[in-house]
Amino acid sequence: MTMNSTGRPTAPTDIAAAAGAPETVSGSRGLLQHEPLIFETDRWGKTGVDLPAPRGREDRLGGLARKSAVDLPGLSEPQAVRHYVRLSQRNYAIDLGLFPLGSCTMKHNPRLNERMARLPGFADIHPMQPQSTVQGALGLIDELAGWLKTLTGMPAVAMSPKAGAHGELCGMLAIRKALEVRGELETRRRVLVPASAHGTNPATAIQCGFTVDEIGAGKDGLVDMEALRVKLEETDDIAGIMLTNPNTCGLFERDIREIADLIHEAGGYFYCDGANFNAIMGRVRPGDLGIDAMHINLHKTFSTPHGGGGPGSGPTVLSDALAAFAPVPFVSQEEDGGFMLVEEDRREAAHSFGRMVAFHGQMGMFVRALSYMLSHGADGLKQAGEDAVLNANYVQARLKEVMSPAFDGFCMHEALFSDDFLGDNGIETVDIAKGLLDEGYHPMTMYFPLVVHGAMLLEPTETESRAELDRFCDALADVARRAKAGDETLKGAPYLAPLRRLDETRAARKPVLKWSPPARESVAAE
Ligand SMILES: *Cc1c(COP(=O)(O)O)cnc(C)c1O
Repeated sequence: MTMNSTGRPTAPTDIAAAAGAPETVSGSRGLLQHEPLIFETDRWGKTGVDLPAPRGREDRLGGLARKSAVDLPGLSEPQAVRHYVRLSQRNYAIDLGLFPLGSCTMKHNPRLNERMARLPGFADIHPMQPQSTVQGALGLIDELAGWLKTLTGMPAVAMSPKAGAHGELCGMLAIRKALEVRGELETRRRVLVPASAHGTNPATAIQCGFTVDEIGAGKDGLVDMEALRVKLEETDDIAGIMLTNPNTCGLFERDIREIADLIHEAGGYFYCDGANFNAIMGRVRPGDLGIDAMHINLHKTFSTPHGGGGPGSGPTVLSDALAAFAPVPFVSQEEDGGFMLVEEDRREAAHSFGRMVAFHGQMGMFVRALSYMLSHGADGLKQAGEDAVLNANYVQARLKEVMSPAFDGFCMHEALFSDDFLGDNGIETVDIAKGLLDEGYHPMTMYFPLVVHGAMLLEPTETESRAELDRFCDALADVARRAKAGDETLKGAPYLAPLRRLDETRAARKPVLKWSPPARESVAAE
């Protein structure tokens, strides 16, 4: 196995042997290029430019100028370009194939959105430009806000949160501010969170200084209503509930109206995690369900490439009860038809809980989301939601003979399976996921939600064709059948990926994040 200077394997390992193919001199495997870290490419100290030191310039760094070399490899443009292209080819992408990661909504991002986001009038403006020169951009934010309010049936929306979890923080800070204004912040400390909630929900509640109290799930994967009623009778310090709908089991919480009524009667607020709005848009308006605050993941529902950690955008819709506490700045239309950003010092913002980001939010994503909405139209958005649910049910129906659906009946936008079908044969969920890598697919979400043993959560999204769904289901069904039959070779998968099975616990607990240059002598000796 080829190791780099920090002890990480850099070359495809054991592949030649596994595939019965000869070892290669280059370490590459056909079109899959062997690629070291960028710091390990080429020679040190090489440079493409050689500028003479400027004469007669005094040091204005107060003696802080660097004394040693920067220690960056000198690369030509093609070397740098190839490095990143080679790395990209060792990765998986939505443009490469179906990305079944449940709860993440990895849908195709129409190229039209990219084209719009790159228009100079949107891409080349600066947040500190005078507002009179960015009226079009402010108008776009206002128009997008209008669509979000219409789709959700809510009276207000905060546009600045920059991710789903950030939107949760926005909603919970609005709830905190509302309790503070009521003079009940000290007495209402408890936030109820169902067991099937997304992990960010309890994290947000804690971040806002509340305590989290878990409500169990019933056998059907939905909130246990009896447990909720008992909890509300026993306690008098409820700040609110954070509920995901559709929940992370891929099911619609049918009792949501009753949950809203119970929470409101107890004096609390209703936060709904709306990251899965993709499944219900155009069919259900959260405002009609009694929800007080809900974030929408623009990067999921309204498309934007969001693998690899960003960018995100989590506008948060607010009910009448919370609208006054929305964060600043927000866009407001003036009497003369122009737009302006309302900041802290304006009367409309008197009760705002404050500011969450430096400027107004994620402009490039606003453009992408609005262009997605305008190109689909209201009817097209509804159709997208329906197709997402149809595709997930198709996957569930195709796989249920081989795998064990976690719950009976239809699902929403994602299909959930447990590891029941494996019995005690020693093969686990993780082996199925690794087997799927050899078939050329990114694995589904594993071991989440926690309420299902050995969970496998699959979300195909509406953008996959029937042919692609079949190709994927054929592959997964085959891996699942092998797993069920106790095929031990799965324990060693993946065999064909650039890297074999890694020690993921060690990678997470003891990551090697720093590269140390090889000793100078050894460089000189080469
Ligand atoms: C994705 C997701 C989140 C978090 O969104 P980020 O943009 O990653 O912060 C929260 N809740 C649910 C249900 C999600 O699917």
